[in-house]
Formats: sequence, C-alpha cells, structure tokens
Amino acid sequence: MKEKLIVNSDRCKSCGLCILACQKDALSIGKEANPAGYMYITVDHEKCVCCGMCYTACPDYVFTIEEVGA
Ligand code: SF4
Ligand code: SF4
Repeated sequence: MKEKLIVNSDRCKSCGLCILACQKDALSIGKEANPAGYMYITVDHEKCVCCGMCYTACPDYVFTIEEVGA
C-alpha cells in the first residue's frame, strides 16, 4: 500500500521544527499564509519517503500519513 503525507495547513504555526526533523529535505515554508496568518509548510512529494519524523516533531498535529491507491 502506498502512503502519502498530508499537510493540514490551517494548524501550522510556521515554527520550522519539522524542517529540522526531515532527513530528506522535503519540507519548506511556503509562500502562502493560512487563516491564522502563518506561512504554512509545504511538502515536496518527490522527496518525501513518509518516514513520519515530521509527524513526530510537529507540536501542532499538522501532519497525517494516509494510505493511497490499492
Ligand atoms: S515524512 Fe519524513 S521524508 Fe516526508 S516530509 Fe516528513 S520527515 Fe520528511
Ligand atoms: S512543526 Fe508543525 S507547526 Fe511547526 S512548521 Fe512544521 S508543520 Fe508547522
């Protein structure tokens, strides 16, 4: 089963902890703000290996990992 990292951008507070946690350089602060005014995280799905380190590091429950496809 394939997995995909989902970013619940409205929860992000732009703290950057997930960027430090990611070993694949897959995360960056995006150019758009969420409703709370924080520039939220974006994920490069070409680099992401769904290891879950960002999920563990984020204090605001921004990430979920979902199974996709068959
Ligand atoms: S799941 Fe792993 S590889 Fe993907 S963005 Fe998070 S820390 Fe990086
Ligand atoms: S750790 Fe969570 S709140 Fe902080 S920048 Fe990353 S996604 Fe946003």
